Amino acid sequence: MPDLENLGFDDMAGNVDSAKAPPAPSPLRMSKFTTAKMRILITGGAGFIGSHLVDRLMEEGTNEVIVADNFFSGSKENLKKWIGHPDFELIRHDVTETLFVEVDQIYHLACPASPIFYKYNAVKTIKTNVIGTLNMLGLAKRVGARILLTSTSEVYGDPLEHPQTEEYWGNVNPIGVRSCYDEGKRVAETLMFDYHRQHGVEIRVARIFNTYGPRMNIDDGRVVSNFIAQALRGETMTVQAPGTQTRSFCYVSDMVDGLYRLMNGDHTGPINIGNPGEFTMLELAGLVKELIEPSAETKIVENTPDDPRKRKPDITKATKLLGWDPKVTLREGLPLMAADFKERLTGLKA
Ligand code: NAD
Ligand code: UDP
Ligand code: UDP
Repeated sequence: MPDLENLGFDDMAGNVDSAKAPPAPSPLRMSKFTTAKMRILITGGAGFIGSHLVDRLMEEGTNEVIVADNFFSGSKENLKKWIGHPDFELIRHDVTETLFVEVDQIYHLACPASPIFYKYNAVKTIKTNVIGTLNMLGLAKRVGARILLTSTSEVYGDPLEHPQTEEYWGNVNPIGVRSCYDEGKRVAETLMFDYHRQHGVEIRVARIFNTYGPRMNIDDGRVVSNFIAQALRGETMTVQAPGTQTRSFCYVSDMVDGLYRLMNGDHTGPINIGNPGEFTMLELAGLVKELIEPSAETKIVENTPDDPRKRKPDITKATKLLGWDPKVTLREGLPLMAADFKERLTGLKA
């Protein structure tokens, strides 16, 4: 067990202590005479994780939430219960363009997360990660907002250390078909820490591991959504070879709780947020068969290049520094997601 007290965790950022003072928050926040709500921008808030985060922040009742999204992989449907609410605002906006809003916190999620979406226009994925993150940091700097980036376990690439701790620098192919996402997120992290060191912007960096739950795109190609949709449609589940590769799956409510704690805590990160329960893809298919559709069959199909062979977060830091640990097991979460898929698939047929 590493000695967390002496890890100099935030020093991973390099001399955070000597960073410049953060930009001053807006006069509205400092005012003695208003009880202003916290104004929170969520980029990518129409997507899977973002829309659950919107629910959490809106349900608190103490926030005004602004979502900026270009609807590339997200949809208004995910936010329909908040549209028209006086504390909610939805802007069709591409983060590669400048954005001028006055906010106190920014959750920067905008970026397609599924391989088939992020590979569709790889150059655009890089722009979203690099120019989009630069713009949101410029915004954070101007208004004195705290900004959280949803980075990814993909920064560890095909890891040579297992499980992955935040100190591990990763094993990433810089020129492969996944690089637009992996390297894009790595540059996004670099930008976050450079704005922190150079301009004193208050940053938080989460490294998210595979997350699943209701509202995932039914056809987005990710493994949990694929297997559940295939099982429910009576199709054969496609296990990509060899099937022994592993992932660790976190239920979305746990993820949202981790992001919230990171944003409102005292640590810059980077910090792993994920469920350490590790499963092979064959085991996952077996669970879907057992819990959702006993008649579901599996077949082995060809894999895509550079697929990481294993992935599992070390969440010692999240546990110790954020008081966070995941509550929902894969056995509990899969049926919850299947119920949502069933409802939506029935709606599609109707
Ligand atoms: P998602 O695709 O459902 O959501 C991403 C949202 O960003 C979508 O609503 C999309 O329309 C929007 N978007 C994309 N490009 C944009 C742009 N240029 N300008 C404005 N909006 C844009 O994905 P998700 O699973 O909700 O992931 C959210 C974040 O979490 C992403 O940053 C992703 O990289 C990160 N993450 C997710 C996972 C996971 O397993 N879901 C794992 C690691 C990291
Ligand atoms: N930016 C933005 N909204 C703001 C402030 C800045 O979108 O409220 C963008 C800005 O257009 C620039 C980027 O953020 O492209 C970086 O801004 P910064 O001020 O750090 O850099 P500079 O404009 O000096 O290059
Ligand atoms: N996978 C699979 N069948 C599918 C889709 C994906 O076996 O229909 C595998 C894929 O090869 C990878 C794992 O599932 O090893 C996770 O893939 P996903 O695209 O969900 O996320 P990643 O972690 O690779 O970004």
